[in-house]
Amino acid sequence: MNRDLGVYKNLLELVGKTPMVRLNRITKNIPGTFFAKLEMFNPGHSAKDRIALHIVENAEKKGILKPGSTIVETTSGNTGFSLAMIAMVKGYQCKLAVSDKSSVDKIDGLRAMGAEVFVCPANVPADDPRSYYEVAKRIHKETPNSIYINQYFNELNIEAHYATTGPEIWEQTEGKITHLVVASGTGGTISGSAQYLKEQNPNVKILGVDAVGSVLKKYHETGEFDENEIKPYKIEGLGKNLIPTSTDFSVIDIYEKVSDKDAAYKAREIIKEEGIFPGYTCGAVMQATEQYAEKGMFYDDSVVVLIFPDHGSRYMNKIYNDTWMEEQGFYDEQLPQNKPTNYIK
Ligand code: PMP
Repeated sequence: MNRDLGVYKNLLELVGKTPMVRLNRITKNIPGTFFAKLEMFNPGHSAKDRIALHIVENAEKKGILKPGSTIVETTSGNTGFSLAMIAMVKGYQCKLAVSDKSSVDKIDGLRAMGAEVFVCPANVPADDPRSYYEVAKRIHKETPNSIYINQYFNELNIEAHYATTGPEIWEQTEGKITHLVVASGTGGTISGSAQYLKEQNPNVKILGVDAVGSVLKKYHETGEFDENEIKPYKIEGLGKNLIPTSTDFSVIDIYEKVSDKDAAYKAREIIKEEGIFPGYTCGAVMQATEQYAEKGMFYDDSVVVLIFPDHGSRYMNKIYNDTWMEEQGFYDEQLPQNKPTNYIK
């Protein structure tokens, strides 16, 4: 089997080593050079393949996972898809507790990938027995021979990105990176990449992206968990209503908050300007980059890497659906428009 010729032992060998693509038009009014790291090129179409594989293989090494075991997780969708895919390749069962905020496309994708899905209400406190955290814990307890991945409170989540995403970014920019812009959900991507990059060059600035309605930015700035910050929001996978231990706040320099509408608009603009078909949080990362630029964060010699976590195909019934956009009150003449469909009769 010769990887150099593009031949692999199985699908899982394709996890990581994602491409980085220069943004050529959308950033034309901002000083600096901008690159997007396209995590949609993982075989499960998101950055979550990295942590799912790392955590599963760690459990195998420890002898906790054996053929026929069950993988249990709390997931907004992407981690679940990665786990379900790995379970298929390796011969495990997979049970996933998902928030009802996750798009129908994502939930159907998990089921198509062979997982058993439990849809839980999003807008209940994290310690409510119906929350997807509590449901996953209960399934784990009730399923013999199971492991709970627990991505929000698992240091292997950070370790996966420290071992792969961080070194890839350092090598791909030939050590020239000055700023990294990353969405913060569990915090694994931002923390692991940041730890590695700051070890290479402590001057690299780590710019977090949080959602309006999440507690992370305020917690980072004040150390206070402020329940008043919590509001329902639509962006999936970004921001939190709890403080995950899989976030190392000490390596993050600053956060920006992004609104649901701005992130959706920006995702559509990425398509129009760059031809990349991005997930919702890619739009949030792009929007935050512009907000950081407005605050004078970047210079002509800045080399800025944006991590784009997943692919637009997971959001066909959301930000790429004009009816959904209208229902959210997001539809106005500023919205980057799709061309009309022409029906030939
Ligand atoms: N974007 C999407 C689409 C995600 O699914 C996630 C993971 N929840 C993130 C961003 C945030 O990544 P992390 O959990 O590593 O902070």
